[in-house]
Amino acid sequence: MEWTSLLFEEISILLQEAGQPSFRAKQLTEWLYQKAILDPTKMTNFSASLKDLLQSLGTFSLLEPVKVQESDDLETWKFLWKLQDGSLLESVLICSEKRRTVCVSSQVGCPARCAFCASGKLGLKRNLTTGEIVEQVLRIENFLHEKGESVNHIVYMGMGEPLENFDAVVKSLRILTDPKLFGLSQRHITLSTVGVIEGIRKLSLESFKINLALSLHAPNQNIRKKIIPYARKYDFNELMDAVDEYREITKRDITYEYTLISGINDGVEHAEELGKLLQFKHCTVNLIPYNPVAGLKLEKPDRGNISAFRDVLDEYEIAHTCRYTKGDDIAAACGQLALQETVC
Ligand code: SAH
Repeated sequence: MEWTSLLFEEISILLQEAGQPSFRAKQLTEWLYQKAILDPTKMTNFSASLKDLLQSLGTFSLLEPVKVQESDDLETWKFLWKLQDGSLLESVLICSEKRRTVCVSSQVGCPARCAFCASGKLGLKRNLTTGEIVEQVLRIENFLHEKGESVNHIVYMGMGEPLENFDAVVKSLRILTDPKLFGLSQRHITLSTVGVIEGIRKLSLESFKINLALSLHAPNQNIRKKIIPYARKYDFNELMDAVDEYREITKRDITYEYTLISGINDGVEHAEELGKLLQFKHCTVNLIPYNPVAGLKLEKPDRGNISAFRDVLDEYEIAHTCRYTKGDDIAAACGQLALQETVC
């Protein structure tokens, strides 16, 4: 059993069954989630026998820190962890003004194998457990506490396809948003998906309302199929409808992510088509210039193309941002996680 995979009620029941008083659950979850302490020997108000009992009931730490890399601009930190089965995993902390955003991984590797992304190059190794997802946030929270800061945004944009690990991801969302546990606002969490229709529908029926980002990357199915193998599995219009339904049910605006790749999807004709597609939706397009991945024969778009693309979106009055990848000196860009270490 993993302590960080449990909801508050599950922790309460477990402790009661072990003969503990009812206030124990609150004490323990304060250590885990408010103080971000995962080592029971540091839980100073617990007796030695209680620490032993807690350790005998379950595992506290699932991630062993291997390396922390800092970008030159001191805004991005990449954390490399080793899991108990030896798999390597990464998370990224992005600091921008008051935002402290943790980008969490949901799987080791990725089944989606998008043409421009490093995570899928080796395919899927395994799903992460809820605790392995939650602990990424807690360890970075602990790192920030030392500077007097706290995590205030989480994005599920690291390695893996979160909707292909639905149950563990949803439980991690419950833990991270429960005010009795990590207590982060639902509005400060974004889940990014390659477009798993049944997962989007299921997520819209959950009781929480987090932001959804769809990795669209193309204005039509033909181009999408060329760069996203998953597009072969799902009809383009049905996917767009599923995302519209998500917006209607949750009342959250949607972000469409669009990795611009030279000669593939970065022309003004593509921008026009995208403009028509998204014109009347309340949404933001997040343009991400392709960040080169070793071994892939794709190219970055020119600055001129990016700005022409943005002008067309302006004409269609579509809100857009352009994310020049942060932390590329440490290869901390989304989709570039863990590959270097995994291959070596
Ligand atoms: N599987 C999910 C979550 C992974 S995050 C998804 O597909 O959304 C993936 C995001 O990382 C994508 O939206 C893509 O924009 C970005 N990405 C991956 N590789 C990239 C690269 N080489 N350059 C720029 N962006 C990349």
